[in-house]
Amino acid sequence: MVPVGEQTEELILQEQLAEREQKSLAQRAAVLRVYNYYRIILSFLLMILFYEVRGQTFIGTWEPQWFQTIVLIYVILNVTAGFFILLVQNPAKITTPIIIGITLTDLVFLTGLMITSGGVESGLDSLLIFAAAFGGVMIHGQISYVFPSTALILCFASATYTRLTDLSDNLQHFFEVALIGVAAFAVNALLQYVSNQLKKQELEVVSLSTLERMRAVAENSRLELEEQYNRFNVLLFSTSEGVLGLDTAGTVIFANPMACELLDIDHEYLISRDIQDFMQKSDEATEVPRVLEMMGIEARSSYEPERWRTHQGIPFIVEYKCEETVSSDGDCTGAVILFKNVTALREQEEQLQYLATHDPLTDLPNRAHFNDILQNALTRAERSDRTTAILVIDLDHFAVINDQVGQKSGDEILKEVAKRLSRSVRPGDLVARLGGDQFTVMLIDLDLAENAALVADKVIRDISEPLNMPGGPNSISTSVGIAVKGEGTSQADEMLAAALSAVENAKSQGRNQYCFFEPDMQQKAEEKKRIQMLLRSAIENDEFHLMYQPIVDIKRGRIASSEALIRWRPAESDPIRPDIFIPIAEESGQINNIGSWVLETVSQQAKHWAENVGECPSIAINISSKQLKNDEFRLQFGEMLETYNIPVDKVELELTETGVMEDPEKCLEELTKLKELGVSISIDDFGTGYSSLDYLRRLPLDILKIDQSFTRGIGESDQDEEIVRVMIRMAHAMGLKVICEGVETVPQLRFLQEHDCDYIQGYLFSKPRLPEDITQMIRGEVDGSYNIMNVEEG
Ligand code: C2E
Ligand code: CA
Ligand code: CA
Repeated sequence: MVPVGEQTEELILQEQLAEREQKSLAQRAAVLRVYNYYRIILSFLLMILFYEVRGQTFIGTWEPQWFQTIVLIYVILNVTAGFFILLVQNPAKITTPIIIGITLTDLVFLTGLMITSGGVESGLDSLLIFAAAFGGVMIHGQISYVFPSTALILCFASATYTRLTDLSDNLQHFFEVALIGVAAFAVNALLQYVSNQLKKQELEVVSLSTLERMRAVAENSRLELEEQYNRFNVLLFSTSEGVLGLDTAGTVIFANPMACELLDIDHEYLISRDIQDFMQKSDEATEVPRVLEMMGIEARSSYEPERWRTHQGIPFIVEYKCEETVSSDGDCTGAVILFKNVTALREQEEQLQYLATHDPLTDLPNRAHFNDILQNALTRAERSDRTTAILVIDLDHFAVINDQVGQKSGDEILKEVAKRLSRSVRPGDLVARLGGDQFTVMLIDLDLAENAALVADKVIRDISEPLNMPGGPNSISTSVGIAVKGEGTSQADEMLAAALSAVENAKSQGRNQYCFFEPDMQQKAEEKKRIQMLLRSAIENDEFHLMYQPIVDIKRGRIASSEALIRWRPAESDPIRPDIFIPIAEESGQINNIGSWVLETVSQQAKHWAENVGECPSIAINISSKQLKNDEFRLQFGEMLETYNIPVDKVELELTETGVMEDPEKCLEELTKLKELGVSISIDDFGTGYSSLDYLRRLPLDILKIDQSFTRGIGESDQDEEIVRVMIRMAHAMGLKVICEGVETVPQLRFLQEHDCDYIQGYLFSKPRLPEDITQMIRGEVDGSYNIMNVEEG
């Protein structure tokens, strides 16, 4: 039964009971009122009797004074109490003790009256009995027969006492009294009966109306339920969602038509099937325990996609919602599942997703997608001791090839490269297209970062295999940049940027090779760009100047020559060292202009010295091998010597060993021509490159400059000392003079002197100086006031 009904029923019953109570009280009050009327009437009758009997002698023990007194008191009492009771409106106040009190009082008075009036013969005994009978009725039959009985016994007693003298009459009188007694009992019984009947009827009325009202409530609820049910049915039958009712065991106990349709099964077969029959087990999370879990523990209140299958076993993707059903006690009675087939929607979504994440030409993941996957892999591998690397693959000169073969063939080449790339890597590695001619590979689970180089090597080899494409290039080479997960490359975008910068490096180093990203590569590249920018206006802005460092002939104890060393103080930056900006200028080609400026400036200086010191001192000029390869250099150099009238034997050209060995043939050719002019040639930083002795012999060299790194080892490392000794001996054997540079200490000087070194250059004698200082030194040497070897003592 619905709770509302229960409540209503109880309320109604309570109401009814209260009403009944009220009614019985009212009834009692009414009876009492009737009794009162009777008593008031009785009082008047007694008053009449009172006046009638005055002066007369009644039968028996007639005591008029007593009789009159009692009548007077009784009448006054009756009238007062009667009116008082009539005035009392609230029937609840007329309680059983009051009624008993009234009745007893009546009995006492009537008995007194009976005795004083001379007994039964006065006829008052009948009054007594009626009064008692009424009293009995009033107190609801609880002691109703006690009163009439008491009255009857009193009557008999009175009759016996008064008729004791005449026994024949006595018998007749007894009979009379008995009749009156029977009448009293009959009246009492009748009144009792009527009262009971009334009560019963009343009760029936009460229960009847209760029932009526309850029926009305039930009817209302039924209608309401029916309405709800109808609404619910319309919903269930028209909804596009499948609805299943389950019991706690997961058995289907209810299904709407859509559920049958979606599961492709007839209603009768669906009922009492296990819901798990339709739920597919997937690897990640098993549906079954989840449904069981939901049974009583956890309901899911939102739609989540999952795989189900139809009765025929055809899989489909559903979104479903499951809610527990509970009884009024709060116990779980099962669940209701709402579900819909979203397979088509999902497929569309997947297709869109695929288009958004893949490159249509090669079918490879695109850059954004690659980035996502890489980021996931990096996050997942955070705690792994294995590492992740990515390669960026950039096809060499693809733009040129594309122009030559046309875009269609270009696309074919890209597709072919994509295929080869996918074949080159392990199945778990991910190949993606970054765009244009750039591809990328994600290598996960590498035990060694160096292994990425092996893959890079393989990729370079595989891509360079012959192409077999009519009209296209025979093969294509590629550059690869490698970035390994690490500090500063822990995020996907950082790694990609690193690999891109590494591939740039690979390309600048001559392509067709791979290059690892180094953390400061980026910074270096930026610094390089900045320097190149600043260099553009350095000459115009007159930001360069030259310093000169004496080279000392230790055998003669005099300055042999001075090496011109460039200094740069950019307007909007701190000074930048030549070993930093010269390689950058070499790379950008700006070295030609700088070299020209140096030649020009040195020439002016030489002229100045020639005019001011008397004789032109020897000057060593650093020449970049890049400069040397430029045909114009030789011409310019020759012109300069002529213009400033510089004796050619006063000039030494210094070329670094590594510079020369980059392209020894070309250098050999150029140096030979220069040599023809009469200049002497030094090989600088000797020992840092890998000179072949063959070239050393063929090059037209005059001087070998041992690199500072070896000088520093003198007195420190036996090996370095040995190398220096061998180098000096070898140079001498080849007919070359030897300069040892970077000499800073006297022991170094001693060692070199001992081992027959010709020249020495270093802070021990002099740091690079301003030209004026050099002028001073030369002048001093000429007039004997300055000896560069004096430092020896200091
Ligand atoms: P370098 O030709 O080997 O020049 C010698 C370098 O060693 C100079 O550095 C010089 O200041 C430094 N040096 C000389 N003695 C000592 C010493 O006792 N101790 C130490 N620690 N250093 C000493 P600088 O001037 O910074 O030049 C660096 C490099 O820049 C030169 O190496 C040279 O390769 C290049 N460079 C300098 N000027 C020119 C130039 O005009 N043209 C070209 N192409 N390269 C130049
Ligand atoms: Ca030098
Ligand atoms: Ca050097």
